Amino acid sequence: MTTELEIGLYIFILAGFLGYHVITRVPPLLHTPLMSATNAISGISLIGSLVVAGANYSRLSTTLGFLAVICSSTNVFGGFLITDRMLKMFKKREEFGIQHRRFNPKLLLALPVLVIVLLVLMHGFRRSGTDAESSGAVFAATALRYFYILSAVLFILGLKGLSSPKYARKGMLLAALGMLMAIAGTLFHPEIVNYRWITVGLLTGSIVGGAMGLRIPMTAVPQRTALSHSLGALAASLIGISEYVRHVAVGLDRVKMTTIGLEVVIGSLTFTGSLMAAGKLQGLLPGSPITYRGQNVFNITVIALLNSYGGLADASMGFVLMNKIQIITGSLDGTSGFLLSLLMCRAMNRSAMNVLFGAFGKIKKEEVGAAAEAMGTVRSITPEELTVLFDSVRSVIIVPGYGMAVAQAQHGVSELAKLLSTRGIDVKYAIHPVAGRMPGHMNVLLAEANVPYDQLYTMEQINPYFPEADIALIIGANDVTNPAAKNNRNSPLYGMPILEVDRAKSIIVLKRSLRPGFAGVDNELYYDPKCMMLFGDAKESLNSLFAALKS
Ligand code: NAP
Repeated sequence: MTTELEIGLYIFILAGFLGYHVITRVPPLLHTPLMSATNAISGISLIGSLVVAGANYSRLSTTLGFLAVICSSTNVFGGFLITDRMLKMFKKREEFGIQHRRFNPKLLLALPVLVIVLLVLMHGFRRSGTDAESSGAVFAATALRYFYILSAVLFILGLKGLSSPKYARKGMLLAALGMLMAIAGTLFHPEIVNYRWITVGLLTGSIVGGAMGLRIPMTAVPQRTALSHSLGALAASLIGISEYVRHVAVGLDRVKMTTIGLEVVIGSLTFTGSLMAAGKLQGLLPGSPITYRGQNVFNITVIALLNSYGGLADASMGFVLMNKIQIITGSLDGTSGFLLSLLMCRAMNRSAMNVLFGAFGKIKKEEVGAAAEAMGTVRSITPEELTVLFDSVRSVIIVPGYGMAVAQAQHGVSELAKLLSTRGIDVKYAIHPVAGRMPGHMNVLLAEANVPYDQLYTMEQINPYFPEADIALIIGANDVTNPAAKNNRNSPLYGMPILEVDRAKSIIVLKRSLRPGFAGVDNELYYDPKCMMLFGDAKESLNSLFAALKS
């Protein structure tokens, strides 16, 4: 006979395959919204948390469930809001200035009406029975299962919408509807007897998540995503602990013990790992990769688990509670994280372990200094001198990198590009798949600054244009332009496909110093006779350049 565990495993694998096919169709342009969308969907851990918080298992379980409700609902509210904010920004050239048909607010009214009807129906059925065997209670439980199936379909359709910016928002609306149905249905779970902590938890999560989703600047999206991974994983760990405490007295069979163990271990590792990533991205921890003796051994053990992110933690929570919708969303989230990691690996020509959590290799300061000395001299340029250069150019390729995000210079970049276009200069943007600190990072920032997405070129598309470009204008990008990746077999970057800016007629780099980027590798590009450095904060440099060009 097929056991619940086997059914769960079938579902996990099938959801993974389905997710693979849906998610591979998401273009690189939408990789950041994809991450926050799967984040929001993996907030389905909320439904397990609601049951634990509302059931009368023990005071400890209620407390853990309550905390898990806060964490998961923060992810749900924050995730859907910020995904929608991002998706709203992606526009084509011809879509600017066009008044889109506005969203009909009457549709919004339909949602609460639907939920209320649903709740009344389920409540009625539940009350009509006196015990769990009664037809009303059985009907409510059956209805709940069908709601979960419908939610799963809506989540898949939602992710499918992300295969094009045109349908992405509608897709996310469907996914949000799926989430709403799953939550509303769960409120009538037969084990929930008390709504006090559920209400407080949901309110707190909606306020925190809502504030994060509505107010967090686009430049802080990577740290928000990391934080939300950690919250989802924390929720999974808390529920795992609660389930252990609840069952340990009556005895846990091997399967239950293993799933709980996996849930707590994966959840805790993902929680701390993601929290560290968020701290690094926020500048609270040192930005350079932290390396230490024996790191590689550690990577294989701990880091491999971290790779699975919140998705696996969520799925294992689904196995512990035997909740199929959580197994499905966990599998979808895990597949998405795994696929994006593979894409990053390909873009960096490195192994999965090394890319996700390893360092390129610690490079001593003296080595950097010595290498720099051997490479020759660096030429710097002022904004005023640059204006002379811009007088005679016909085509410019803008190459944004992590420094643009740090300086919050995306609006300055967009303004400069517009000014150059009005002078008849052809402007293109070159987007490296791993520029910045998360897949699609640059796309979101430029979309925020109203850069039409049809002006953005992928690395494969733009590289043939560099030899014709008069200027490659590099804004805070470093590793993704380093020619050592092509020319120097001894470089840790060797083999990583790069934007071939060194083939442009001249190269202008906006950054504050000659310091290396994420990989810690000195950039020989800066010693190229065609290259000129405009030193300073990218935003300030762009402002000065813009003012000089205007005058
Ligand atoms: P990068 O190599 O990290 O270089 C960023 C540069 O920005 C730095 O050299 C820095 O130089 C400059 N910068 C910082 N603040 C600035 C400011 N306020 N104004 C001007 N410049 C500033 O960035 P990248 O070229 O975008 O490459 C991304 C790197 O991150 C790659 O190595 C990639 O493998 C790695 N990575 C990417 C992802 C992803 O998914 N995208 C994830 C993890 C790791 P100064 O200090 O001299 O200003």
